[in-house]
Amino acid sequence: MKRILPIILLILMVVFIASFVYSLMAERGDKINRSQISEYKYVASRLKEPFHYPTCRWAQKISEENLIGFKTRQQALDSGRRPCKVCKP
Ligand SMILES: [Zn+2]
Repeated sequence: MKRILPIILLILMVVFIASFVYSLMAERGDKINRSQISEYKYVASRLKEPFHYPTCRWAQKISEENLIGFKTRQQALDSGRRPCKVCKP
């Protein structure tokens, strides 16, 4: 029985670290190039709050080095962003 405790602690630690890493990845969105924009449903600037449909005129103004993509709306919301008021994603 004594040997099982460290194993349980280890599993808990692994689960904790994995969920932490996953949440970091989800929050950042994927850094993308303009050519990849069609693979994503939503885009945003790394530096700014709103997220857009790729077709939005504001999305076109995001410079390529700051462009990030989200595959789901939830992912964009989870990153702390709000929907753009122009394209209303
Ligand atoms: Zn927009």
